Amino acid sequence: MIGRRQMAKCRECGKEFYQKTTRGEFCGDSCRGAYWRRQYRQQAVEEAEERLQARRNGNGHATPEQRKEASEALAKIVQRGQVSGQFRRRI
Ligand SMILES: [Zn+2]
Repeated sequence: MIGRRQMAKCRECGKEFYQKTTRGEFCGDSCRGAYWRRQYRQQAVEEAEERLQARRNGNGHATPEQRKEASEALAKIVQRGQVSGQFRRRI
């Protein structure tokens, strides 16, 4: 008897696979990596946007230099996402 393995759907590519662990949500390490990298990037973009927004609305403390820095950081994150090609695949 081989444990109670369950079929699960990969959260990254949607392929069905047998879960090796109860926490298995991905068919493989590459899918897990891709998923979390994208999640992290998505979060980083949102945080950068928030910071940018806060500075714009802010209390007048943002210097032009800070604003430039924030928009450059955002551009870098977006660029990296486009290189991987997976970033655009949002639901
Ligand atoms: Zn997968």
